[in-house]
Amino acid sequence: MADTPPLKAPHLGEPYLLTPGPLTTSLATKEAMLRDWGSWDDDFRAMTAEVRTRLLAMLGDGKDDFDCVPMQGSGTFAVEAMLASFLPKDGKALVLANGAYGKRTVQTLEYLGRDHIVLDKGDYLPPRGEEVAQILADDPAITHVIAIHCETSSGILNPVQEISEATYAAGRKLLIDSMSAFGAIELKPSEIRYEALVSSANKCIEGVPGFGFVIARKSELEAAKGRSHSLSLDVHAQWAHMDKTGQWRFTPPTHVVAAFLVALRAHEDEGGVAGRGARYARNRDVMVSGMRALGFETLLKDRWLSPIIVTFFCPADENFVFDRFYSLMKDKGFIIYPGKLTIVDSFRVGCIGQMDEHVMRKVVDAADASLKEMGVTDATPPAIALEERAKLAA
Ligand SMILES: *Cc1c(COP(=O)(O)O)cnc(C)c1O
Repeated sequence: MADTPPLKAPHLGEPYLLTPGPLTTSLATKEAMLRDWGSWDDDFRAMTAEVRTRLLAMLGDGKDDFDCVPMQGSGTFAVEAMLASFLPKDGKALVLANGAYGKRTVQTLEYLGRDHIVLDKGDYLPPRGEEVAQILADDPAITHVIAIHCETSSGILNPVQEISEATYAAGRKLLIDSMSAFGAIELKPSEIRYEALVSSANKCIEGVPGFGFVIARKSELEAAKGRSHSLSLDVHAQWAHMDKTGQWRFTPPTHVVAAFLVALRAHEDEGGVAGRGARYARNRDVMVSGMRALGFETLLKDRWLSPIIVTFFCPADENFVFDRFYSLMKDKGFIIYPGKLTIVDSFRVGCIGQMDEHVMRKVVDAADASLKEMGVTDATPPAIALEERAKLAA
């Protein structure tokens, strides 16, 4: 692996956020927030237009059938907006759940009163194309399948290609929560068919939190008119208003948009989705191989490891205490993330944000030093963790 030159230090001494958003942003992105913008002014309208055009361009061929609608709020607001706008009131959804974000989608559908069933694969097993095909064959009332692209709670990269194929072979439609993947993992409509996806400012594009965006087929946007239960989350209304006036319907997060634009230009300079994804994959590879050399084990086998975030089992050694490990890592400049598994203790390390393989090597050094300070001589997980992992196909 060829060494790339180190990224410019993105911050002024604060710890790196090894978390799946908010994440470490560049100094230029932060500096873009040092002025005020009038939301109605031509300058800001041009910024909104550029954001939409740049996001759409990431779709590649086929992008002309789609449009991009930014929505105020965190990512969940945009997911809710997408579900309420594209699922007809008399539709029925199949939710493919294997973690917290799939469960949140189910909860959202309950709030919205939309009929649904769930394929619940537990904490981390992937929903497979054959399973989707079988469920759709058994239940002709299902109109839409909802998939999570990268399930950030385990870090698994779900097989959206085979899910899409099964969905459209059965004549149904696919909606994708690509929150933590979009911008780093290709989602080209010419390769994977879907009706709409959703993501947000503070994930792989490396902006600061404050808005999400829905990218949907124009035909679906048109059909969404009058469907939403919510004034502020109505994707069609936001789209129609933005197209007519160039403005957001309600106060936009102006500084966040300004920062996002700088982040988007940097994304292009890095080589777009392919370049961004390659850096994150290097981050993961360097970090995972270093951690494995210390004795740590990943929850997932390599084929399912996303370049977004990685779950590690906590060591079996009784001297290992996660809270202590967390604060020792933080003292060394790295904020890690607790795990979300129900069966065994775990923690997560993010690979996204303004950091590169040089930083990831220091993360491994910090983990090594922290283990020594805790008196942990071996980072091997308990046997039950490895039995659990054996359930996952290679
Ligand atoms: C981050 C994320 C969301 C949105 O979470 P917010 O806290 O509302 O920003 C939704 N889905 C996935 C897969 C995510 O990673």
